[in-house]
Amino acid sequence: MKNIIFIAPPAAGKGTVSDYLVKNYNYEHLSTGDLLREVIKSGSEFGKEIDKIISSGNLVSDDVIIKLVSDKLKTLDESRPFILDGFPRTLNQAKSLDEMLVNLGITNNIAVYLDIDLEEALKRVLGRITCPKCKRSYNKNIEKLRPVNGNVCDDCNVELESRSDDNEETFKVRFSTYLENTSPIIDYYKERGILKSFDVRREPSVICEDVSLEANND
Ligand code: AMP
Repeated sequence: MKNIIFIAPPAAGKGTVSDYLVKNYNYEHLSTGDLLREVIKSGSEFGKEIDKIISSGNLVSDDVIIKLVSDKLKTLDESRPFILDGFPRTLNQAKSLDEMLVNLGITNNIAVYLDIDLEEALKRVLGRITCPKCKRSYNKNIEKLRPVNGNVCDDCNVELESRSDDNEETFKVRFSTYLENTSPIIDYYKERGILKSFDVRREPSVICEDVSLEANND
């Protein structure tokens, strides 16, 4: 299976597709948002700075995030394909990522673009809940993605949580930041011939199938 670089606005379905690929194809899921939230949890001064930036809906600086990803990529298990979720978010990050992958000899990659409009993304983001233990994603506003029992994880039986930056005000900043930065990244991967686009206004299971078929395609 090919490694997947996700390009998608918040709430386009990256979490759901990632869960599917991890479960069914043994993908390793690397989310820069999760890495940053771990830094925040540490309670350090650096974590407090990161928290302020994330809460405002803005982007963490390229230097910080590139270092985090570069360190993490070196630790990945070479025998498993990986998903990069949330990175790159700027053209500069995309170019740095290329360098990192070349240096590590990783060539089997596709960029998966999940296209969604603001209205649909907002509806999803306001319903999004995640298991703090296994990170499985659910959505109160999408019938097929609701947890079976109220607000607890189907797998772990742990209370599900929503993210503090999943509110309307922060989300609108995050979405416009995404739009501003994304077109050049899309063009960048298109030029390299590795961009694959998916229409996300379909059943989550169909989208997951489609992405996995593409990732398995030689
Ligand atoms: P996410 O969980 O991917 O929605 O990321 C949550 C927040 O973390 C974003 O709104 C940004 O503030 C920050 N973040 C995550 N990934 C990146 C990145 N590649 N570059 C800059 N900031 C990022």
